[in-house]
Amino acid sequence: MAILPFDDRDGWIWMDGKLVPWRDAKLHVLSHGLHYASAAFEGERAYNGNVFRLRDHTNRLINSSRILGFELPYTAEQINAAHREVLRANGLTDGYVRPIAWRGSEMMAVSAQQTSIHMAIAAWPWPSYFAADKMNGVRIGIAEWRRPSPETAPVHAKATGLYMIGTMSKHKAEAEGWNDALLLDWRGRVSEATGANIFFVMDGELHTPTPDCFLDGITRRSVMSLAKKRQIKVVERPIELRELAHASECFLAGTAAEVTAVREIDRYRFAPGAITEVLMKDYDDLVLQSPEEVAKMVAA
Ligand code: PMP
Repeated sequence: MAILPFDDRDGWIWMDGKLVPWRDAKLHVLSHGLHYASAAFEGERAYNGNVFRLRDHTNRLINSSRILGFELPYTAEQINAAHREVLRANGLTDGYVRPIAWRGSEMMAVSAQQTSIHMAIAAWPWPSYFAADKMNGVRIGIAEWRRPSPETAPVHAKATGLYMIGTMSKHKAEAEGWNDALLLDWRGRVSEATGANIFFVMDGELHTPTPDCFLDGITRRSVMSLAKKRQIKVVERPIELRELAHASECFLAGTAAEVTAVREIDRYRFAPGAITEVLMKDYDDLVLQSPEEVAKMVAA
């Protein structure tokens, strides 16, 4: 399948405070963010003209930037308004939205105290990450790379630097014929996939790893609220790989993946079933609600 290159498209990108033609949204090669990964980003989806849980995504971007040591030069309100501008300018009501903030070119060394902070927001159509496999179930291999401990990396920031682990792991998994990779954490416990959190159904309960060294995803938290509304018991706890033998169902949860069933992880097999199906449907319904309704639904 031919992919339309991301730098050769029509449309508008919000960059440093204003909309610029898509092809002109460029930065200098000597940008600190490129060389030293001093950058934080978000991955969001718009449904029916509203970015799902926009306030939570914007707050996470602000927080990720602070963890990396910089302050965004815009308020949350300005960032949220910029999202609406981008969607409108590109004629999108549904699609993927990618805000990113990075350190600029004033300094080119590890120390970057005097760099300016830049920000851009782009949006494009992106129907489904795992497309036809959402209920059928994806197949996941186990990565050689592990999620680092919170003492080793800023694990709660959506920081670009952390994604080198994901890309290396995903590429190897794809080369071996899997759809994605499961990352273990530095202790060898189950953590998450390369771009989504993971859930298991064990004895009718929903079990998910404690997010102590990876993103506590916005989709993850939404799914946990939905499960509780369905009287499904949710258990956050450390999960060992060998316990996967006792899981009947497994699914991924993330902005891009939404709720996607998993049918295989290495030698473990799952049968996408009733709990995955109901939470997939509840999530698909939730994202179409108004922001006020969503806030109410996930407040639990
Ligand atoms: N983990 C990783 C590594 C991710 O990239 C994502 C996607 N942002 C998630 C988990 C899920 O987070 P969210 O539900 O907030 O999209």
